[in-house]
Amino acid sequence: METILVLTHVDETGSALTKASLEAVSAGVELAKQHTAKLTIGVLGADAPAAAGAVAATGARLLAVSGEAFAQPRYATDAAACEAICRAAQASIVLAPGSSRFTRVAAGVAHRLGGFLDTHITSLSSNDSVDATRWFYRQRVEATISREARPWFLLLDAGTHAAFAGESAAAQVEPVAVTLPATRTTVEGLRSPMRDAQTIRPDAKLLFVTGAGWTKKQPDGHIHVAEAGELILAFLRLSGASLGSSKSLADQKAEGAGEEQSVLPFLTHMNQIGQTGSTPRHAKGLSTCCHGEEPHVVGWRFIGERRAISLDPNCGWTRGKADVVYVADAFQVMAKVNALLEARSA
Ligand SMILES: Cc1cc2nc3c(=O)[nH]c(=O)nc-3n(C[C@H](O)[C@H](O)[C@H](O)COP(=O)(O)OP(=O)(O)OC[C@H]3O[C@@H](n4cnc5c(N)ncnc54)[C@H](O)[C@@H]3O)c2cc1C
Repeated sequence: METILVLTHVDETGSALTKASLEAVSAGVELAKQHTAKLTIGVLGADAPAAAGAVAATGARLLAVSGEAFAQPRYATDAAACEAICRAAQASIVLAPGSSRFTRVAAGVAHRLGGFLDTHITSLSSNDSVDATRWFYRQRVEATISREARPWFLLLDAGTHAAFAGESAAAQVEPVAVTLPATRTTVEGLRSPMRDAQTIRPDAKLLFVTGAGWTKKQPDGHIHVAEAGELILAFLRLSGASLGSSKSLADQKAEGAGEEQSVLPFLTHMNQIGQTGSTPRHAKGLSTCCHGEEPHVVGWRFIGERRAISLDPNCGWTRGKADVVYVADAFQVMAKVNALLEARSA
């Protein structure tokens, strides 16, 4: 008989659970139902009891480690907190979001508990025991894993489960005491890039992909890189989309600016989508000025509805890789789209 613990943590407000935590809660509720197992949810953060209200409707036992020492991610305090929650819950299966905060400590905590850890889990299913799936070899091979060893820690990839959305209520939360370990790291605060500079937004509904066409000679015989940059940034600002790129565009360097400076200064290889790039998860994707070649499109595996704007009626997108293709000039289309979005937000 399994006992299931979902480890969660708060977001930057200190008193609300992250979306990825709520996704892990959904996975835990589902798994507990399948196994008629006892479910415990552990919450970590500055004001964990306040955050726990969001999952009161699960009816799970709620454990919390709270206080200023846990306001910021830090290995020593986070590992001690997770260990204390795990020991209090005595769980055989521990689910947690694969956030940077938990990815950093999960292996250490599993070791302290004498358990095993698997990461990048995308789904869970049950027969007699628990099966977990994850992808290998750049999302080409999907494996189903099961283990006899317990406790079994599973870090879930973001975007693979619906976020738990039960009614918020006052929760009966059991505080878990943690003996504070010696700390060497003092967290002085957070410095994050401006919204305009942060172009990779995993929680965005839309992935907006830019291809090398933005920097190519256009029908008027000229290139328009500066205009391309303005159109792209304006669309990102107005839509909140996440920015992806083809390899050809991410590889292009600005003339005379050295190895590091991309032709579009806000683009890096972190934005690259595809076989040698990333495979993000978004409900929709819009490709612009990109040919849609296979090594690029394999990165679109987890994009729901796919649309593309390309001048080439024979591009890869039109050959069955997109749901809708606009054979049109992306400069003109995006200028019009931006004007419509601008008018709507005014
Ligand atoms: C081992 C290997 C790994 C690779 N990995 C990746 C990867 O991870 N990701 C990746 O992206 N690629 C990858 N590639 C490269 C890939 O094969 C393509 O070369 C690349 O995706 C092409 O980028 P692109 O479509 O932006 O550029 P191009 O092929 O140059 O296409 C540009 C397109 O823009 C269109 N266009 C131009 N102007 C306009 C306009 N005004 N409006 C609309 N459309 C316009 C053109 O018609 C053209 O179709 C890999 C290749 C290899 C061999």
